[in-house]
Amino acid sequence: MNKEELESQIQLKIWVYNFFAVSLLKMPSKEIIDNFLDYKKIQQFEKVQLKEVELLIKQLRKLKSYKNEEWIKIQEEYSSLFEGTRGFNIPLWESVYKGSENILLDENTLKVQQYYKKWGIGVIRDIKQPCDHIGLEFSFMAWLNKFMLKSLIRDNINDFKKYVKGQLEFLNNHIVTFLSSFCEILRKKSTHEFYKEISYLVLDYVNQEMDSLLKLKEIKIFNDNDVNIQLHEDDEKQIGLYKLSEDEIKQEEKMEVISTSGRNNCGGRCIIKAHVKGGNIIKLTTDTEEESAAGPQIRACVRGRGYRKTFLSPDRLKYPMKRVGERGEGIFKRISWQEAVDTIASEIRRIKKEYGPESRYINYSTGVSAVLRGDRLSRRLLALDGGYLGYYNDYSSACIKYTTPYTYGTIYAGNSTKDLVNSKLIILWGHNPAETIFDPLMGYYLKKAKEAGAKIIVVDPRYSDTAAGFSDQWIGLKPTTDSALMDAMAYVILSENLQNQEFIDKYCLGFDKDHMPEGVDKGENYYSYVFGERDGIPKTPEWAEKITGVNQKTIYKFAREYATTKPSAIVQGYGPQRNSNGEQTIRSSTMLACLTGNVGIKGGSAAGATYIKQHEEPKLDVLDNPYKAKIPTFLWTDAILRGTEMTSKNDGVQGVDKLKSNIKMIINLAGNTLINQHSDINRTIEILKDTSKCEFIVCSDLFMTPSAKFADILLPGTSVFEGVNITTPWSQGDYIMYNNQAIEPLFDGRFEYDWLKEVAEKIGLKEKFTEGHETVEEWAKGIYEETRKNEPELPPFDEFTKRGVYKYKPRDSYIAFKEQIEDFDNNPFPTPSGKIEIFSKRLYDLNNPKEIPSIPKYIDAFEGINDPKREIFPLQMIGWHTKRRCHSIHDNNDWMEEIEPHKMWINPSDAEARNIKEDDLVEVWNDRGIIQIKAHITRRIVKGVIAVAQGAWYRANKEGIDIRGNINTLTISKPTPLAKGNPQHSNLVQVRLI
Ligand code: SF4
Repeated sequence: MNKEELESQIQLKIWVYNFFAVSLLKMPSKEIIDNFLDYKKIQQFEKVQLKEVELLIKQLRKLKSYKNEEWIKIQEEYSSLFEGTRGFNIPLWESVYKGSENILLDENTLKVQQYYKKWGIGVIRDIKQPCDHIGLEFSFMAWLNKFMLKSLIRDNINDFKKYVKGQLEFLNNHIVTFLSSFCEILRKKSTHEFYKEISYLVLDYVNQEMDSLLKLKEIKIFNDNDVNIQLHEDDEKQIGLYKLSEDEIKQEEKMEVISTSGRNNCGGRCIIKAHVKGGNIIKLTTDTEEESAAGPQIRACVRGRGYRKTFLSPDRLKYPMKRVGERGEGIFKRISWQEAVDTIASEIRRIKKEYGPESRYINYSTGVSAVLRGDRLSRRLLALDGGYLGYYNDYSSACIKYTTPYTYGTIYAGNSTKDLVNSKLIILWGHNPAETIFDPLMGYYLKKAKEAGAKIIVVDPRYSDTAAGFSDQWIGLKPTTDSALMDAMAYVILSENLQNQEFIDKYCLGFDKDHMPEGVDKGENYYSYVFGERDGIPKTPEWAEKITGVNQKTIYKFAREYATTKPSAIVQGYGPQRNSNGEQTIRSSTMLACLTGNVGIKGGSAAGATYIKQHEEPKLDVLDNPYKAKIPTFLWTDAILRGTEMTSKNDGVQGVDKLKSNIKMIINLAGNTLINQHSDINRTIEILKDTSKCEFIVCSDLFMTPSAKFADILLPGTSVFEGVNITTPWSQGDYIMYNNQAIEPLFDGRFEYDWLKEVAEKIGLKEKFTEGHETVEEWAKGIYEETRKNEPELPPFDEFTKRGVYKYKPRDSYIAFKEQIEDFDNNPFPTPSGKIEIFSKRLYDLNNPKEIPSIPKYIDAFEGINDPKREIFPLQMIGWHTKRRCHSIHDNNDWMEEIEPHKMWINPSDAEARNIKEDDLVEVWNDRGIIQIKAHITRRIVKGVIAVAQGAWYRANKEGIDIRGNINTLTISKPTPLAKGNPQHSNLVQVRLI
């Protein structure tokens, strides 16, 4: 080979690598193909007689001849394969194929970055791709060839060989290590011959390149005079790459440890430390500071340890998109941010004009559970734009929050978690803090309480991880029967005179006929109910055994133990109140606390809602909504179907008597309640599919979730690593955290504020919306400084962000109602009567005693143990919050599937009756749908009950069967009677082997 031939060969390499780079980095177009075919040396390339090149040129000529329709198909194919417009995308990044983690921006990405740097090359930030994108790697190969060409021209054999060596190294250590896997997936997934062909060509070409480079290594055509070539002399541009400056080359990449925090909607906000090098997250750690006077460590749970796997997934949504298929089909087209913003702004205007501001709804969404979040920011925007339909309640705690104030006048009925160490008996009633994090320190204080001698009893249909890990006793009862068990405990306590009569007489209203308010039926008192004076049914343990399935002897013992062990704390989870009679579970539990005088004392518990008032919460001002109407969160689908028929009397509408409009527009930002987390998924799908009902839906998310598929405009968000924020734990507030930004946003992702600001500008509200805050950081600072006014011990903002967390100085535990108990005369309860209202006149006046009694009382639940539907669907089904997910977040994290495979729990006797063995695939069905799921046979669940952990991502096959096993395919959308809450644990089903 002479020098001229060699030069031509290198030109060819540059041309081919550039083609591969462009094909994988950019949407293909006729212009791109024309450019490649117009290349001045193309005729020479054809003479090279290299099979791969001949084929490639042939392919390009074929593409050139394509008509527009065919080009549209190729472009759709590109979008679908690489941009995720159909929910799937082929990973293009080396890190995803290497190692076992399959994530982006890890140490493999770092190695590629460092290799580029060795040659003075970096990745242009605007390309918004990790540097180990295969297209960038090909671009890098083209650049090395350009350098090699230069050394050939200058007869510099040393440099020439250096570049040959560099190419061999890069091919061997990087491209070749994952190219065949990439090509195999591309071949399988592509439907167009162009990409299938590319998958063969690229692989064959690289293979022959290895041989060719080995030959070049031995080449001897140059004079040996070494000309000093500077790599950075090359002015030519390479797609996605640039020449680093001398300073950038010299800059040493240091490992930075960046403190951020979990911001899922679990009760915890844990310390997450990202170890970042060169913009890549190499590992995560959590709180590593020793336990101190400021409190125990705030350590991440198993989900937190897996954040890299969840959030740095190659499946992230990458670009703004608009729906082009039927709604819900999940077929989108990539659009620009400008088009997305314009469309949202014009729909906000149009819908306001056509249906009024009341038709606009911001859906319950908690994927970003931080102070600054999309739903709150949207509320602020729409409040400025004339208003929106609001909501009250939430999916977690509708009944507990709504009902506790009927008894105590407030939801702040909890004692600080650390007060558990003062309890002698702790009853975790439907509470599973080992998996469901209410407060990340709960496990720590339970352990301390145990060490101090407390006994722990867990009441739950499942022998939960908490029961296994902490309890001295498990009481397994049937779902929906909690208040029957509590009422029977009350019977034992009262019949054996174990109650604290002094407490009852002093603080409570409605205990017996002598403590009833005026103007009501005095026979409606609690004592009368317990002893069956009206209905002839004393609520004995024998009575309760038939309902709850709990042995009567156990009930007697449990009641006596609770009444005689002082102080005792009933701490409730949210599961039992997420039943169709959930309100009664709360009322009956507060009743037990009152009977035993455990209210307002250290080590006790008032039961009910466990919120406490300890610290000022940092808050974004969402501004007053000019439209005062609110619906119960759980009834938003009804408000789409029959909003104008919904009233305060029948549907719990607040603020107005009647709604003015149906919902016509939904803003759903970082939320999966649109489909996945709302009851009766098949019903919701039917409602949302019809675009004449709700006309416009905008979603932003990290993934193509079941909800995101229903967007008309779908936007890529940013994860916890990609922006700043402030977080606080659910109810305790003993610390406050700052999310420092660890890395740049992935792809074209944007935090909601950044585009809402642009929407605000379009509708002429930017100034009022932003109040001059251009960035989230500016908002965070302002909000923090406001909080600091009431919490002067907080450090200055800069110090706070540097630390990442501030643990408040220890204060005395919050003990709910301490003031009332210690000085009742001066501190009445915040109820209408000033007393604890065992009897509620407000409920009495609702005049619906069968569903909403005025005293705590067991009510047969719909889809409960006595529902006639049990003849067809004999099993009760409950969900639970598993340690592997936070609601629906992390379901797509394989590591979590290893930790806890998604399976249905079934008791051996129920399994045997259906011939079901461990790991058998079964169908669970009822009149709302069918799911398929593997069975886990265990005595850890009571007979007659199955459990399916909530949060799995709904995925239906052609027959409409949910093959991922989302419990909400089977849950009921009828609300609870009083709170209009979600009864998602009251479900009757049948199970069969398939
Ligand atoms: S999921 Fe919740 S408890 Fe777990 S690490 Fe994240 S914030 Fe903490």
